[in-house]
Amino acid sequence: MYFQERNLMYKSDSIVALSTPHGTGAISVIRISGEDSIRIVEKLFINKKKKILSKQKSHTVHFGEIINNKDVIDEVLVTIFKAPHSYTAENTVEISCHGSNFIQQEIINLIIENGARLAKPGEFTLRAFLNGKLDLNQAEAVADLISSENESSHRLAMQHMRKDFSNDLNNLRDELIKFTSLIELELDFSEEDVEFADRKQFKSLLKKIQTEIKILIDSFKSGNVLKNGVSVAIAGKPNAGKSSLLNTLLKEEKAIVSDIPGTTRDSIEDSINIKGIKFRFIDTAGLRETEDIIESKGITKTKEKIRSSQFLIFLFDVNDTTIEEIDKTLKDFDRQDLKIILVRNKIDLKIQNFDLINNLKNRDIIEISAIDNKSVNNLKEILFSQVKISNTKNNTIVSNSRHLEALNNALEGIEQVQEGLKKNLSGDLLSIDIKKSIEYIGEITGEITNDEVLGNIFSKFCIGK
Ligand code: GDP
Repeated sequence: MYFQERNLMYKSDSIVALSTPHGTGAISVIRISGEDSIRIVEKLFINKKKKILSKQKSHTVHFGEIINNKDVIDEVLVTIFKAPHSYTAENTVEISCHGSNFIQQEIINLIIENGARLAKPGEFTLRAFLNGKLDLNQAEAVADLISSENESSHRLAMQHMRKDFSNDLNNLRDELIKFTSLIELELDFSEEDVEFADRKQFKSLLKKIQTEIKILIDSFKSGNVLKNGVSVAIAGKPNAGKSSLLNTLLKEEKAIVSDIPGTTRDSIEDSINIKGIKFRFIDTAGLRETEDIIESKGITKTKEKIRSSQFLIFLFDVNDTTIEEIDKTLKDFDRQDLKIILVRNKIDLKIQNFDLINNLKNRDIIEISAIDNKSVNNLKEILFSQVKISNTKNNTIVSNSRHLEALNNALEGIEQVQEGLKKNLSGDLLSIDIKKSIEYIGEITGEITNDEVLGNIFSKFCIGK
């Protein structure tokens, strides 16, 4: 059972986990958090200077040995952090040991034998949240920071680690709370027909909040791109050069290139960074009519992949297609939120099909040779220029779908209040909708939360964080 009320320091049992990745490395860090954590480590640790660990100051590092009965397991460095000055706000110890699987396991087992238990995924960060060290948005940003793979996803996570977004939301929430209390005060004086909450002022506040929430909701598109990257399906007839293009994009022989039509039966996926943005390329099975069951399964998969992508690079070879074929595919995949880029491949080869070239004259076409780095780089530039991103340096960008859902719900609540004001609804009805919006905004920072939401968020963390 999690604690519903935050900022209530609670006495907790001690938890232990490996905080560095599993496997062999130069050093590993084992983290222990909880009231007894320092005393537990004290029992296994022999300080070279014979000092008692629990009597040492916070934020100090001690060299010594971890022992099991009389056997020395390892020479280690032990760092202690005393409550509340630690990540979790609890007493915390970090043991830096040699990075062998055996040593890691031995030390963790010893700590468990001495009274700690193995931490659950994200439990250190959950404790930081429950003890008021982080709000929920910041805790989620910790997970994003750990998984950030490029400059833009890193910057986004850092932006949420700072409290700006949470502060902005809390300000909106506070203003709404102020108004609800004024409206509720009116209810106490209902016989006297007084109006404590100035309706004109309230309307302009709602307009301001509505605008701010809408800006945040709109920023999600950019946020999603920065965090999860852009998905680009590469499609076209067999032999159009899809695998060759992917190979040049990735600069490694991952896809199988051959001149037997229908070789790429399943999709092959990989990502690259273009100017700090992650692009996920999906090489799909060649689109063609076929009797082959396996190939036709591949084609169905291709169509699904294209449907869930943001971009479609439709590749063709002028000598091996017709305008009808191209138009049919474009029509099949026409969708408002799919950007189709028509790419003519094999420009190094002699043109035999001049009819098609004539027919394509007025179309927006990019010409490449998939086996030539320079022309593929040009395609990369074009792709990058088509992705619109808000300025991450100055604006708050929402990248978390949980936040997006809460913002959409809050906006709906605000719009209901606006409707209610227009209809001159009574204060008690207005306050129901305002409270709904207050709750939704509060869900983002974790002012309002429940076990299920917390369980969902923290179970996605790794153990040790
Ligand atoms: P896919 O079936 O669409 O994946 O096509 P592949 O990438 O396997 O390419 C089919 C054949 O076309 C291979 O022999 C490639 O070497 C060749 N090819 C691909 N792109 C080019 C290009 O730009 N120029 C030339 N000359 N050949 C190419």
